[in-house]
Amino acid sequence: MPKLSDRVGTFTDSVIRRMTRICNKYNAINLSQGFPDWDPPKEMLDSLAKTAYTGPHQYAITFGAKNFRDAVCAKQSKAIGREIDPEKEIVITCGSTESMMCAMMTICNPGDKVLVFSPFYENYGADAILSGASPIYVPLVPPTYDYDIKIIEQGFKDGAKAIVVCNPSNPCGKVFTKEELTEICNLAVKYDAFVITDEVYEHIVFDPYKHVHASGLPGMFDHVITCNSLSKTYSITGWRLGYLIGPEYVVEGARKVHDFLTVGAAAPLQEAAVQAFLMPDEYYEELKEKYTHKRNKFLEGLDAAGLKHNVPQGSYFVMVDISNFLELDQFKGWTDLEFCEWVIKNIGVAAVPGSSFFREPINNLIRFHFARSEEVLDEAIRRLHKMAALVK
Ligand code: GLN
Repeated sequence: MPKLSDRVGTFTDSVIRRMTRICNKYNAINLSQGFPDWDPPKEMLDSLAKTAYTGPHQYAITFGAKNFRDAVCAKQSKAIGREIDPEKEIVITCGSTESMMCAMMTICNPGDKVLVFSPFYENYGADAILSGASPIYVPLVPPTYDYDIKIIEQGFKDGAKAIVVCNPSNPCGKVFTKEELTEICNLAVKYDAFVITDEVYEHIVFDPYKHVHASGLPGMFDHVITCNSLSKTYSITGWRLGYLIGPEYVVEGARKVHDFLTVGAAAPLQEAAVQAFLMPDEYYEELKEKYTHKRNKFLEGLDAAGLKHNVPQGSYFVMVDISNFLELDQFKGWTDLEFCEWVIKNIGVAAVPGSSFFREPINNLIRFHFARSEEVLDEAIRRLHKMAALVK
């Protein structure tokens, strides 16, 4: 048989998305792949229905329909405190997933190095490999998920072209402070490198934490490539609408990469999603409150079951410590993946094994998300009590 490229042999399929498939097979509650189980705002659904008849149904401009780019730029200019030029400083992509890949392919040559925090959202590893770069990992050390700035500086000294910052962080829920982002960005400037941010959870941040846009820090716009999407903010993960914002010369390169990768994001969905940007400020407040409530409820449930966990500052993920389960005879020598499969089949709840996020050999953490209705979260907790009973 003809051979495949060496490249595809160097990474696996996404474990997150694999867990969804296993979960569906056993009809379990899916707290693995993160996506909400409620509808997008009604205004957007109405707009989608209307667009079905008014169009457009043919290609949008490859780097994004003008009205959609204008709308994204208006919102994000206000957020970062600098005018973003819709003609030169943005590319509309198929989700932040494509933005990240596009950013890496735009700035990396084969052999380049990129700093990636560990734990990291698993796409970044594959993004680096597919763009020819190799990752240098910077540990975010549980349970506080702090990092050592000296490791970052050493990475830049060793020639890292960029650092990837997922903020708020998937999977550990860390929200980078202004001081942390400033010190990271200062190093990028000092070593003439880029900061690539993934900010898809920007509106899911819990008090007293605040989201800070790295691109809005004084003098940083030229060093920051911002990847973002509408998926989480408007509960439309299936629409695959994202964007990359950056300095003009980066965007010029990224537009070429994007053009040949996908041509463009779906035109009717861009049209319908313009509506999202007409949402009043209260919409974002309510979204935050909704997720704060879900986080508190889920964490209380975990506490009541006696399951140890971190307290996420942002995003909709929580890491649960399974060390004491792995000490039981029943699970001795098991991997976290085997444990998660057992939980799906026997408890009826799906999580993602932490090892798919960590570079370090960490086997004792699993990730749950809480973007689920009250009833589903209640039922999930009820089932997790059964699991917790094993170690009581
Ligand atoms: N960001 C979500 C997660 O980490 C879903 C990602 C995806 O599957 N595209 O679960």
